[in-house]
Amino acid sequence: MRTPLIAGNWKMNGSAELVASFGRAFAEAELPGDLEVAIFPPFPYLEAARREFAETRIRLGAQTLNPLHSGAHTGEVSGGMLREFGVQYALVGHSERRQLYRESDEQVYDRLLAALSVDMTPVLCVGETLEERDAGHTREVVLRQVGHVMARLEPAQRARVIIAYEPVWAIGTGRTATPEQAQEVMAAIRAYQGGFDRDLAAGLRLLYGGSMNAGNAAELLAQPDIDGGLVGGASLKVDDFLAICQSAG
Ligand code: 13P
Repeated sequence: MRTPLIAGNWKMNGSAELVASFGRAFAEAELPGDLEVAIFPPFPYLEAARREFAETRIRLGAQTLNPLHSGAHTGEVSGGMLREFGVQYALVGHSERRQLYRESDEQVYDRLLAALSVDMTPVLCVGETLEERDAGHTREVVLRQVGHVMARLEPAQRARVIIAYEPVWAIGTGRTATPEQAQEVMAAIRAYQGGFDRDLAAGLRLLYGGSMNAGNAAELLAQPDIDGGLVGGASLKVDDFLAICQSAG
C-alpha cells in the first residue's frame, strides 16, 4: 500500500499569521489515519512553522535547495541547512523553477541528488506545457523529464523519490486536468518506472498538481495511480487545504 501525501506548496506566499493559523487548525483536525501532510513554506517561515506545527501531523518541505553544501553562493540555501530546521521533503524541478529560473534537467538532477544526500525525500515535479500537449507530446515530454533523473539513480535512491505530475497549463489557471487525463500520464510514469523494477514501480508515490481544490480533489485522488496532491493556491486557505486532506481518506 502506498501512503497518501497531500503537500501544500505556498510558493512566494504566506505570512507568519498563516503559519500560526495552520498550526491551530491542524492541531485539532481529524485526518485520515495513514495520510501524510506537508507544507512547503517560503524559507523565512520554516522556523515558525517548525514550532507552530509541532503538535500537528504537518511535516515540512522546501521549495528548492542548492545542489552544494556550502560556499560563496549568495542568496542560496543548502539541504544541510534545511535539515537543521526539520525539513523532510524538497521540491525539485517545479515548472516555475524550470521556466522562470531556467533550471535544466541537469540542474534538477543535481538538486535531487543533494536532497537524497541529506536524507530528504525529493519530490520531482514534471509536466508538459499546453503547446506540448496540443502537439501530442505529453507522454514524451513527461517521460523525458522523469527519465533524465530516474534512469541515473541507483535502485535504493530511486525508491526514495516521489514524483509530482503537474501539467503546466493546469497550474494556477483554475483549469484542472480531468481525472482521466491525469490518470493516463500517471500510469505512464508508473509503467516507465516498471521498466527498472516492478516492485519499485508498485511502491512509487505519484502526486497530481494543478488547480487541485476542495471540490475536485476526491475525484482525482480516487484514480488508481494518484497517491496524493501537490496543492498551490488552495493550500493558502486553511479550510480548503484541510478539506483536501480529509478527502484523501
Ligand atoms: P495551483 O494549485 O495553484 O494550480 O498550483 C499547483 C502547483 O504548482 C503546486 O506546486
